[in-house]
Amino acid sequence: MQVFLVTGGAGFIGSYICGKLLEQNKKVYCIDNFLTSSRSNIFPLLENPNFVFINHDLSKSLPEIDEKIDGIFHFASPASPNKKSARSYINYPIETLLVNSCGTNNLLDLAMKNNGRFVYASSSEIYGDPEVSPQVETYFGHVNPNGVRSCYDEAKRFGEAITMSYFRKHNVDTRIIRIFNTYGPRMQKDDGRVVTNFINQALNGEPITVYGKGQQTRSFCYVDDLVSGVLRIMGNNDIKGEVINLGNPEEYKIIDIATKIKELTRTNSEIIYEELPEDDPKRRRPDISKAKRLLGFEPKLDLEKGLQKTIEYFRQEKS
Ligand code: UDP
Repeated sequence: MQVFLVTGGAGFIGSYICGKLLEQNKKVYCIDNFLTSSRSNIFPLLENPNFVFINHDLSKSLPEIDEKIDGIFHFASPASPNKKSARSYINYPIETLLVNSCGTNNLLDLAMKNNGRFVYASSSEIYGDPEVSPQVETYFGHVNPNGVRSCYDEAKRFGEAITMSYFRKHNVDTRIIRIFNTYGPRMQKDDGRVVTNFINQALNGEPITVYGKGQQTRSFCYVDDLVSGVLRIMGNNDIKGEVINLGNPEEYKIIDIATKIKELTRTNSEIIYEELPEDDPKRRRPDISKAKRLLGFEPKLDLEKGLQKTIEYFRQEKS
């Protein structure tokens, strides 16, 4: 039986990875410290005898695992930029830097000892406020190195650099995924991300808070599509050392997301405009031709259907 370690396995994307691996009859070690994730995401998995949960802060030395690990998915990190949310990386800047630096270092050592594969969850944030669109893997980005978002952007850039260093120096079998905005059921309701904020504001009849004029763009990928790409990246034998964008290239203005969610929830909430956060990227859209070519990756669910599923989830959470 193949054995995998998923860090951040109680988080939004991590918990789907754990679930899929268990469905495929793999053994899963999940490490999380619930800094920004939630126990409820893994409740159903705890009953599975192939699932082992370890509550641990990855920036400290790693707990002993008495088994050969075939692959590591390093998905542990705060990920929301919204400083109004207690779960935001802006409120955990040091933890964010350490889990992506010391944590990544510890996990790369473990991958090397086990002769296992290492998949690092990097982010579209490494492109910063991009000057080219769509963003292709060869673009170096446009990042403020000491602004409010730098604790995340630079953490992920360091994470990429150390991952590539283990690949080049020690020949570790690494893969880097640059994840673009992803949404779906099991996101934290209070994480401050645009989709969760708008849906929950709409369901509660509260004003929908568009930051700036809402002309900035994002491209949203449904979580099942993203996770199918993540599993292909771990499973593929020919992409050692590659850096690959994953996301859905359909691009929307934030104001249009607000209008769409208003329509789909049939809410009476009004749209209000608030100050644009510092260093908020003006546009973001992945070029996914590399993922298509190497993995046959193709997002399937369109935004409207994905939003409907997410709205349904939050409706049920509310009741
Ligand atoms: N945003 C917004 N209202 C909100 C939350 C976010 O207008 O209540 C905007 C935010 O300024 C950004 C976009 O939506 O331009 C996406 O924000 P999110 O926090 O989801 O993640 P990001 O893509 O910035 O990492």
